[in-house]
Amino acid sequence: MRIDVLTIFPDYLAPLELSLVGKARESGLLDLRVHDLRDWTTDRHRTVDDTPFGGGAGMVMRPDVWGTALDEVLTPDAHLVLPTPSGALFTQRTAERLAPEEHLVLACGRYEGIDARVAEHYRARGVRVSELSLGDYVLNGGEVAALVVVEAVARLLPGVIGNPESLVEESHGAAGLLEYPVYTKPASWAGLDVPPVLLSGHHGQIARWRRDEALRRTATQRPDMVEALDPASLDSRDRAV
Ligand code: SAM
Repeated sequence: MRIDVLTIFPDYLAPLELSLVGKARESGLLDLRVHDLRDWTTDRHRTVDDTPFGGGAGMVMRPDVWGTALDEVLTPDAHLVLPTPSGALFTQRTAERLAPEEHLVLACGRYEGIDARVAEHYRARGVRVSELSLGDYVLNGGEVAALVVVEAVARLLPGVIGNPESLVEESHGAAGLLEYPVYTKPASWAGLDVPPVLLSGHHGQIARWRRDEALRRTATQRPDMVEALDPASLDSRDRAV
């Protein structure tokens, strides 16, 4: 997969050289390119913003600068991602939808955001455009959102996670639940013991315990996810939990 990130703060994306995403880049599984939007400006001050039409506080990012940059970076199959607090919520389903794409282009807004005509223009030209929000809060810029989208998508690419089994039972997976609590050695720590069933070696009982705990944890932390479960996916023991 190729991902291009356009930003006025390329250094903000430095963490994408680390850990699993860094390794995916080194091994060629991910072709990630970070660009400085100001490279597409034409004035001495490398201006990317201007005052909002209609008045009001703050500055808005100019569509002509974004247009020149995006015309150069977008390939015919590219999917343009615009992080914005006014977008649709970015979830694991969104990451799964984006993971099979050949090419993602992430345009990081700053100030009061990017002139609305940028999304409109590229949609009208047949580009797939997703305006995505990390959540119901406002960040200073789209760079943190770009880090989140790249990491969530990259770990779904074949070969990025050493053991693909780790993706199966995770929170927000196909079961629609949060993950069960996890433990490691030592079996006893700070007066707290690991649940004995996990030391029993009984695979059936461990699977049942994990399912019960996942259901319990989801009901406590995210009752909205329990509401959204397909009743046909629950067995009689699940209902008791
Ligand atoms: N004036 C905008 C509004 O009220 O909707 C907020 C602009 S915000 C200060 C600047 C940039 O940060 C946005 O263009 C976007 O790229 C990014 N951003 C802020 N909050 C975000 C969120 N919750 N999800 C994704 N991107 C966000």
